[in-house]
Amino acid sequence: MSASALRVAWVYPDLLSTYGDQGNVLVLERRARQRGLSVERLDIRSDQPVPTSADIYLVGGGEDRPQRLAAERLRRDGGLQRAAANGAIIFSVCAGYQILGREFVNDLGQREPGLGLLDVVSVRGEGERCVGDVLADIDPSLGLPELTGFENHQGVTHLGPGVRPFAHVRTGRGNGTGDGTEGAWRETVFGTYMHGPVLARNPKIADLLLRLTLDVSALTPIDERWYEALRAERIAAATQTA
Ligand code: GLN
Repeated sequence: MSASALRVAWVYPDLLSTYGDQGNVLVLERRARQRGLSVERLDIRSDQPVPTSADIYLVGGGEDRPQRLAAERLRRDGGLQRAAANGAIIFSVCAGYQILGREFVNDLGQREPGLGLLDVVSVRGEGERCVGDVLADIDPSLGLPELTGFENHQGVTHLGPGVRPFAHVRTGRGNGTGDGTEGAWRETVFGTYMHGPVLARNPKIADLLLRLTLDVSALTPIDERWYEALRAERIAAATQTA
């Protein structure tokens, strides 16, 4: 981590912010500040270069056309790939998750190259769009409580041997392959289909990103009552619709 402030880059708010993704930035910033960390927030619009100096990169969800434009610009720019090669922490949601993969099917029905930061390939699902509340168990090796989120995607994502499933669904569709997997991760790069915004509903994931940045195993406990109330409500909603 850089000596002065924790640098959080929000990648392409002009293209990838359809699903309240700013909430993820706000939660991460707030939980860092509550631990006495100063935060420098970088909102990187799609006409700006992606800096390689940030500690954490957040890449949000988007509709099909903005998703293609974002992928084209990120490929051309190369900053996110360079940051990843330097070991940056990257957390991506839905369209952002698909873009981080090897390939996805774009709004023109064509195979579009991704950034190759996650060993996943997304295709267009033939069935109904995956929409609704999700409850899932996160990879036990990450030591996190159950995942709650809202999914809304047509894409179906197949995982290769270079990644592990981020979670396994109890209710909902996740990657949409029928094998129960949801999202993918390797080392410090994460992808999920969960909106919500996902860090508001799962603040311990924000803490995981902070712990990875600081290279510590624990953070000072903070007041979780608001988050717990939200989690309880959404977990009940996912269970009722199951
Ligand atoms: N366009 C992608 C899909 O439908 C991603 C949608 C999203 O980000 N919610 O699969």
